Amino acid sequence: MPTVNAFAATSASGPLSRTTIERRDVGTKDVLIEIAYSGICHSDIHTVRGEWGDITYPQVVGHEIVGTVTEVGSEVTLHKVGDRVGVGCMVNSCRECENCIAGEEQYCLNGNTGTYASVDRDGTITQGGYSTHIVVVEDFVLRVPEAIPFEKAAPLLCAGITTYSPLAHWKVGPGSRVAVVGMGGLGHMAVKIAHAMGAEVTVLSQSLSKQEDGLRLGADHYYATSDPATFDKLKNTFDLIVNSVSAKIDINAYLSLLRLDGTLVSVGAPPEPLPVQVFSLFGNRRSFAGSGIGSIRETQEMLDFCAEHGIAPETELVAADYINEAYERVLASDVRYRFVIDAATLA
Ligand SMILES: [Zn+2]
Ligand SMILES: [Zn+2]
Repeated sequence: MPTVNAFAATSASGPLSRTTIERRDVGTKDVLIEIAYSGICHSDIHTVRGEWGDITYPQVVGHEIVGTVTEVGSEVTLHKVGDRVGVGCMVNSCRECENCIAGEEQYCLNGNTGTYASVDRDGTITQGGYSTHIVVVEDFVLRVPEAIPFEKAAPLLCAGITTYSPLAHWKVGPGSRVAVVGMGGLGHMAVKIAHAMGAEVTVLSQSLSKQEDGLRLGADHYYATSDPATFDKLKNTFDLIVNSVSAKIDINAYLSLLRLDGTLVSVGAPPEPLPVQVFSLFGNRRSFAGSGIGSIRETQEMLDFCAEHGIAPETELVAADYINEAYERVLASDVRYRFVIDAATLA
């Protein structure tokens, strides 16, 4: 088994540090990827700190991975040595349940295998992208088009697909009125993608501090939700509201902004319940929905869409030794809009 360099959490409260981990031998259907860049997602922080349940340490996180194929198994047909590829939030699924058969393996009824902190098919705990190499079964590996700058591509594998999937599912296109709640790692991608799909895009952010960025990235309008006049002005306006905020919000106030048959879909998850007044749903026959990442087929579609439309995340490239500081800045919302680790600094 190859031993590779990585950056891992060794406890829920301590800093992450340099270590080595074992990757499995390349199986007949596996691809060995030399990681070039790995994004830092808020989920990484929740996971290593045990906020989403107990985990086994040491744990390497990171599920926004791009790199180059350096070895393929004997039965691999989808990728070859030298290809630019990506790995997102999952690395396998049961392939047998009705959701897997429907090509929606992110909703695998037996639980998809997460890229990190998940029990793999061989019983080991999966280890993520803050590392120099990863071994993944070929059909969970994506092609990263040349048109997307490599050092910016990684966040598409989580933030990109998590926002693309609901926009595509609810058929956003020219004439759609879309609101994006929150201008963070997810929100800024939702703005870019919805704009490229042809929608009229409105950002609903706590303050106007990122207004200039929002308008530059493709928003047509930008409102502060701290101003109660915003909710009066925008009543009955939107076909789709994508909520990317992981904190508690007044969900009924946001539901009132939906027009006939509009949907509010949450991709951010606050730890506590959000009380919904059912009467908020009666008016305009509104829906309140959730959406989690996207399928492999849809992730490839998103990458190709971003290449075609010249879309890439706004990123700040950092060295591995900066990860702990980056975490503090993510928690303080002090990043525009995604940290990306240069895996060369782990070598
Ligand atoms: Zn993520
Ligand atoms: Zn399944």
